[in-house]
Amino acid sequence: MPHPACSPALPADLPLSPEGWPLVDLHVHPDNSTLAAITALSQERGVVFGMVEHAGTKENVYPRVLSTDAELLDWTTALAGQGVFKGVQAEWTDWAVGFSTQALGTLDYVLTDTMTFPGPDGRRMKLWEKEAVLDANPERFMDHYVDWHLQILEQSPLDVLANVSWIPTPFAERYEALWTEARMAKVIEAFVRHGIAMEISAGFQLPRLRFLREAKAAGVRFCFGSNGRYPAMGKLDYALQCARDLELTAAHLWLPEGNGPRGARRA
Ligand SMILES: [Zn+2]
Repeated sequence: MPHPACSPALPADLPLSPEGWPLVDLHVHPDNSTLAAITALSQERGVVFGMVEHAGTKENVYPRVLSTDAELLDWTTALAGQGVFKGVQAEWTDWAVGFSTQALGTLDYVLTDTMTFPGPDGRRMKLWEKEAVLDANPERFMDHYVDWHLQILEQSPLDVLANVSWIPTPFAERYEALWTEARMAKVIEAFVRHGIAMEISAGFQLPRLRFLREAKAAGVRFCFGSNGRYPAMGKLDYALQCARDLELTAAHLWLPEGNGPRGARRA
């Protein structure tokens, strides 16, 4: 059954789970592979992929960072007609400065996460790296981290926030205690206010059900993502199990609608 909102530019005939959820992994990174190998894997898994390359200023350090219209158009042109959704993973709140609205309009969606965070010197710090310098006080860290979520959700025109509720390894065991009702409520309220979709990360197995239940009750829409590099993409088990536990319908799920990312529509 084709996705009802599918434009000719989007993959048609999305595969569905027995429950009727479109089987789409919107968080697939191209690193260490080729588009041919990735699209073959998509066929094998029966899951349509949304491909994301990092986008933002050259201050962000990744194997490839799209910073200009020409670089962005190289990416979206290569993906056109490949049966994938065309996305970027935006970096920091200033990610869009190098792009025209027209070039952004060649994307289907923009995704980001909160895992790059202002370090003690104000510079960009990757919270998952062991060199990251964390606040010694986890409660204070979490308050700043929640504020950072709000800044990103408010300042950066996004479609999807990924890796939601992830916390750095030194504090990860305290997930349930650190994600208090009040902190969850602040973040979820910002999703609702800005109409941003919440990724259920199959790769990180996050957010946990308590968080997702609150988000569903508040009216947040969800999408599935692996954050996978080849061949770890398209494995959606955790996300599908959450969808079952939450009794989601297709109407609770968000997919790109074929009219470009929010950032290009708003400008
Ligand atoms: Zn990612």
